[in-house]
Amino acid sequence: MAEKTDHPGAVTAERQARWNAAFMANYGTPPLAIERGSGVHVWDVDGTEYLDLYAGIAVSALGHAHPTVIEAVSRQIGQVGHTSNLMINERSLELGERLSAMIGGDARVFLCNSGTEAVEAAIKVTRRHHGDRSQLIAAEGAFHGRTLGALSITGQPAKRAPFAPLLPDVTFVPYGDAEALRAAVTDQTAAVFLEPVLGEAGVIPAPDGYLETAREVCDATGALLVLDEVQGGVGRAGAWFSHQVTAPTIQADVITMAKGLGGGLPIGACIARGAAGNALQPGDHGSTFGGNPVACAAALATLDVIESADLLGAARTRGAQLAAALDHPAIDFVRGIGLWRGVVLREPIAVEVEARARLHGALVNAVSPTVIRLAPALIVTGDEIDAGVAALHKALEEVSG
Ligand code: PLP
Repeated sequence: MAEKTDHPGAVTAERQARWNAAFMANYGTPPLAIERGSGVHVWDVDGTEYLDLYAGIAVSALGHAHPTVIEAVSRQIGQVGHTSNLMINERSLELGERLSAMIGGDARVFLCNSGTEAVEAAIKVTRRHHGDRSQLIAAEGAFHGRTLGALSITGQPAKRAPFAPLLPDVTFVPYGDAEALRAAVTDQTAAVFLEPVLGEAGVIPAPDGYLETAREVCDATGALLVLDEVQGGVGRAGAWFSHQVTAPTIQADVITMAKGLGGGLPIGACIARGAAGNALQPGDHGSTFGGNPVACAAALATLDVIESADLLGAARTRGAQLAAALDHPAIDFVRGIGLWRGVVLREPIAVEVEARARLHGALVNAVSPTVIRLAPALIVTGDEIDAGVAALHKALEEVSG
């Protein structure tokens, strides 16, 4: 295995120069160039191995190069790789039925390619459902995506400001404040958009009773309740959906999914129940690639493995192990659910800790100056968690010491 140093290896440096020349500056220069992956391990172009503790931003639910996904994708691309929605393809039909059944009986599905597109579809559903209402309520700190509709309900002013004007009639409320939500939602509100656990804001679960209040005020006013499960869905929280952990008694009107759904392939879904599921009319919305059979085959394989290997149970067990093992004076506390944790630090050293952890062979994500996000693949073993925690502790020791 190549030695890890503060400086990029020669091949990585060459890739970074090419990246900077070819791509827009929106991502900055990535510190690593990845060549291959297997399970929860990845190797960079200089041959250095890393333990991947955030799975491509909570995406690779089954880790890298899972044999069931490889088999499903390979078989499908050899059979038919794309059809568009002008025709039915078998895999999208199966996936639509499966997602509908997961939500319950009358749910209807729109398939797309990413989380932000799932949110765009949800916004259109709420607009069509309530022709005469345009107000959307969303939470401060929330993240729903980068396209202009999803950005309009993203409660992070710095991300929105450069692109104003955005959608009008969006009201932000402090996340977790049930009374503020109660006061904001009226009979002019089309929908309330909430993440059951704020992901990009640092893995912050909704306080007890908050989502239940959201359900209650939506029922009282006729507003739709949209739960954004793009990051928390597909098992990461130890259940198919994170709201089944944080608020098990409620049902959303609309659910958005993406990230883990495709086991590494790009796919998103907007799923709506009851009248909301019938809101979109022919011609109202579409996506050339939405429901692509290869992406759907990957999603079906991912759901199969999660079910057959009881990865929901594994996410609960391993997640508890991870949270319990994180114990260092630089850590204030650890929050989150399942294999989705925010490690809250006492000082704003998260970016440095991320870089030091890399030198100890672990990939973690500084989601803010004081929070490290951990979201490993659901197949992570107990030993791999121990190794990852040891690397993170070493990094904390060096940066905080
Ligand atoms: N919604 C939530 C809750 C997310 O966490 C994200 C991405 O981090 C998105 C939407 C946007 O998803 P994508 O990056 O696939 O467009």
